[in-house]
Amino acid sequence: MIEKIVIANRGEIALRILRACKELGIKTVAVHSEADRDLMHVRLADESVCIGPAASADSYLQVPSIISAAEVTDAVAIHPGYGFLSENADFAERVEESGFIFIGPKPETIRLMGDKITAIEAMKAAGVPCVPGSDGPLDENNERTLKLAREIGYPVIVKAAGGGGGRGMRVVHSEAALLNAISLTKAEAGAAFGNDTVYMEKYLENPRHVEFQVLADTHGQAIHLCERDCSMQRRHQKVVEEAPAPGISDEQRQRIGERCAEACRKIGYRGAGTFEFLYENDEFYFIEMNTRVQVEHPVTEMITGIDIVKEQLRIAAGEKLTYTQDQVRINGHAIECRINAEDPKNFMPSPGTITDLHIPGGPGIRVDTHIYAGYRVPPYYDSMIGKLVAHGENRNAAIARMKTALSEMVVNGIKTNAPLHLEIMKDGAFIAGGANIHYLEKKLGI
Ligand code: ADP
Repeated sequence: MIEKIVIANRGEIALRILRACKELGIKTVAVHSEADRDLMHVRLADESVCIGPAASADSYLQVPSIISAAEVTDAVAIHPGYGFLSENADFAERVEESGFIFIGPKPETIRLMGDKITAIEAMKAAGVPCVPGSDGPLDENNERTLKLAREIGYPVIVKAAGGGGGRGMRVVHSEAALLNAISLTKAEAGAAFGNDTVYMEKYLENPRHVEFQVLADTHGQAIHLCERDCSMQRRHQKVVEEAPAPGISDEQRQRIGERCAEACRKIGYRGAGTFEFLYENDEFYFIEMNTRVQVEHPVTEMITGIDIVKEQLRIAAGEKLTYTQDQVRINGHAIECRINAEDPKNFMPSPGTITDLHIPGGPGIRVDTHIYAGYRVPPYYDSMIGKLVAHGENRNAAIARMKTALSEMVVNGIKTNAPLHLEIMKDGAFIAGGANIHYLEKKLGI
């Protein structure tokens, strides 16, 4: 096993990684900003190194500081968590060139998947179903572009190859608006991502977001851990996630899941990853791959009993996958609510000191959080302060547990979005299952 790792992240995921390391007997180094000295995992880690001021650009995104922290503490590997540098191919490369293990895919895989056009090409080659589209970048030939769009059928969506975080996309409803939309998206993409390559695909009007979790080792083995439904979104940000996805048949699950696992074998994928699909009229359409552990990984862990972070660490140590595909079984249903420090009505961030805290519990309840009574939620980072996960023998049981847990939870001193989650758990369309990605915003009247 690896002896010591640097956890290059903060908050709940840093604590999640630290716990997995402790269970595997791996020593941990917490790197943190000046504003994060009081983080729970910093207290619990074997060593800690302050890597800079509060602003992420000066600390959690400072590649040289993170690599020096690994050097001075004699760590052998770096776990990037999610967000920050986790999908930065240059960072992964620097980590490896400096002689450390990057806990994630090879840099070239991150690069391949980071460009949406090359990612789609690779997925098509592996037999993963994709959205009908331009099959490559749009060029200067306007006649060709207009013809392509007619063949795809309006509405279409123009997307930046280097886009991310829901930016660099524009929906076009008619031929008259297409060329102008392309120039605008190109200009924006050039400024925001340093790459003005754009492509086009069919705009699906009412899809659900369904994604498959995969694990691949360095011995050529890859498996899928079934799917999650993350359709409850606000501004392209997931709010509630669940596994399995309501209404997906076992035949579809195995068919699409196996295509994802096969794609991993083909591209020599390493570690944990997620294939994101839009799902409409019983069809799956690949949109992108996330080459890291995701916020919502616990729902998959709850239904499969597989510890995804421990598997990441084992894979990084060169071990074979602990499980074969046959050993992956779904047990019951799990739902995750992302708890944010924000006003549940206007979504404004609500940083500050947590004065009282009561974390819910009982059978089937899991809470991944770094907060504690007296902790001050800093204003500098993402507002997510934890994840409440409920597991039950079926979906209704999981919803009932989630409602109970939400009503027990007390976080005083700051505002949280728990009231919004309680409302979602009582919502008829959510209870029925299978609502699309626009449902939550419509319900909220945005
Ligand atoms: P990002 O990397 O910015 O997250 P994605 O390609 O994952 O970009 O797309 C983000 C979101 O944009 C999707 O979850 C979906 O809501 C919407 N979207 C992207 N492509 C399409 C499409 N072809 N049809 C409809 N909606 C889309």
